[in-house]
Amino acid sequence: MKVESVELRQLRIPLASPFETSGWREEEKTCIIVGLRSGPLAGFGECAVSRGPWYSYETTHSAWHIMEEYIVPSVLGREFKTPGELLDVLSSIRGHNMAKAAFEMAFWDLVARERGVSLSKMLGGASSQVVSGVSVGIQESVGKLVDMVEKFLDRGYRRIKVKIKPGLDVKLVAALREEFPDTPLMVDANAAYRSEDMERLVKLDQFELLMIEQPFAWDDLVDHASLQKVIRTPVCLDESVAGLSDLKAALALESCRVLNIKPARVGGLTVARMMHDVCLSHRIAVWCGGLLETGVGRAHNVALASLPGFVMPNDISASDRWFKEDIVEPGFVLNPDGTINVPTGPGIGVEVLEDRLDKYTREKKRFKA
Ligand code: MG
Repeated sequence: MKVESVELRQLRIPLASPFETSGWREEEKTCIIVGLRSGPLAGFGECAVSRGPWYSYETTHSAWHIMEEYIVPSVLGREFKTPGELLDVLSSIRGHNMAKAAFEMAFWDLVARERGVSLSKMLGGASSQVVSGVSVGIQESVGKLVDMVEKFLDRGYRRIKVKIKPGLDVKLVAALREEFPDTPLMVDANAAYRSEDMERLVKLDQFELLMIEQPFAWDDLVDHASLQKVIRTPVCLDESVAGLSDLKAALALESCRVLNIKPARVGGLTVARMMHDVCLSHRIAVWCGGLLETGVGRAHNVALASLPGFVMPNDISASDRWFKEDIVEPGFVLNPDGTINVPTGPGIGVEVLEDRLDKYTREKKRFKA
């Protein structure tokens, strides 16, 4: 398929409530939506960047720059048979996975629409629902956190993840565990701990957590391996695995027993699916994480999470967890059994609403072949 035109839109959408992690706080959702057109068809991808270099070094500005200067000239007017072919053309750009992923995912959507199949089917998805967990940010008090967790459990979410940081960990988890003795619980530190904090993390081993996600530095594999050696709880990596080489190193070092796969972090669905396959053959459990995606990125994540190795609950919640108003229709809703349906229509299976896009667009640029 030939990429006849590209549209970039930088969006800002108010969040239903602010989201705070160990290192940053977000009041609004920022992203770049990439639209690729070929004949009458359009495919969409989401670059899930923040305003600043917090979760990743990429930002809305850096991603826009990389897209405009390097990605658009590489793909515009060119013909690609598969998303993998498009990704090959971008291989001369080092890093900047989120910027590349948005194009790669938009192309998956385009190809699936041309073939008239759902993205899930095209990826090899096996399930018609994905299990939904929820991620709860840092709250002012333990009481407030308990209330929020209760609310999400009442709605049907199947697993609770809470954000932790040094000083807001052992007591917090103890309180939660006391309140919710049987709930599948996990913690995510977003790289807030150092080697010296090892003992503090070992104390979390007593709470029967599903996993401890990314306690150490965003580029560390060695400290994670040291921790995994001394605790029963699985260590899960997120930020530290940006590609297949990182995964290979993590497996060699035994740095984790679980991997959080985010297509945005790893450069798109092609690599995400490869990681899924590698993990499956190494008996590493996987699940799909989130970056507060709009319905566009959420649809891609749902399709990925329909692959057979995604056996743990995903950070794929209903659209209303984050937004009063999404940019797609239908939005994603939580079923009473704590799952989310995998769309069956062509491509990502949801329609991107032009008027909503316009409403939240801060900057827009169009390129024609
Ligand atoms: Mg994480």
